[in-house]
Amino acid sequence: MKIIRSIKQMSDFSRKAKLRGRSLGFVPTMGALHQGHLSLIKKSAAENDVTAVSIFVNPLQFSAREDFKRYPRRLKGDVVLCAAAGADIIFYPEAGKMYPKGYRTYVCVEGLSDVLCGKFRPAHFKGVATIVAKLFNVVNPDIAYFGRKDAQQAVIIKKMVRNLNMPFKIRVMPTLRDKDGLALSSRNIYLNPRERKDAAILYAALAKAKELIERGSRSSCDVIKKMRQLINKKKNVRIQYISIVDPENLIPVNRIKGKVLIALAVYIGKIRLIDNIIINV
Ligand code: AMP
Repeated sequence: MKIIRSIKQMSDFSRKAKLRGRSLGFVPTMGALHQGHLSLIKKSAAENDVTAVSIFVNPLQFSAREDFKRYPRRLKGDVVLCAAAGADIIFYPEAGKMYPKGYRTYVCVEGLSDVLCGKFRPAHFKGVATIVAKLFNVVNPDIAYFGRKDAQQAVIIKKMVRNLNMPFKIRVMPTLRDKDGLALSSRNIYLNPRERKDAAILYAALAKAKELIERGSRSSCDVIKKMRQLINKKKNVRIQYISIVDPENLIPVNRIKGKVLIALAVYIGKIRLIDNIIINV
């Protein structure tokens, strides 16, 4: 496995792979890899001749108040994990090369970026769409892999690719969870043991919603109310939002029918966690 830091070298590698008729899978990440990331890398390795993983903590998607500086960075461990999962290339660009002085170009997917998490993180998805577009231009993959864990991100990227006529396939893979249901996340390491236990409440609330809907509940309002009641039993836990929306356009639904995305963001102490499930009624 090779680590590439230069943007030009990454583009050259991709072009040469294509000339040799090789298919290229791509997994964009911010590093501090866990089994969730590795499931995407393994899928890419199974479906493509060559797999590239990018590791880049993108300053553009963090607000000034957020955890950019202390976001976990563990390149050495990530290299070992990537190799074991079947990656061929790690693309590890420098922030100063991705956003040189005078940088002025952004991608904004309107309508989808200012709802759900976007309501509370106003510039976040502009940062995400911009870096993914840039990485796509450099890596030029055949297929790119994203996790359902970040459902809104996946919807936005799919829309961007369609709207900008980018010739890449997007695959969205299931969320990997710990035994108690907590979605794996690089940020879980911030949780102290007590908070880690409490964090299981996110999935418990989603499981409760699923159960209510399977038993016949069709009112989003009622389902959300019961989820809130369950979560609010925990001390030191604060709900940022719970929404039930159409999984394609992220518009809230009042009556639950067909496919719905149930998404939530919850603070466990100072740590903000997100999770979601899709239910097909
Ligand atoms: P990140 O490093 O957090 O930007 O995540 C990189 C990719 O891994 C994104 O497409 C995420 O949706 C995906 N991912 C993160 N956590 C999980 C998980 N628990 N299961 C599956 N995919 C995940």
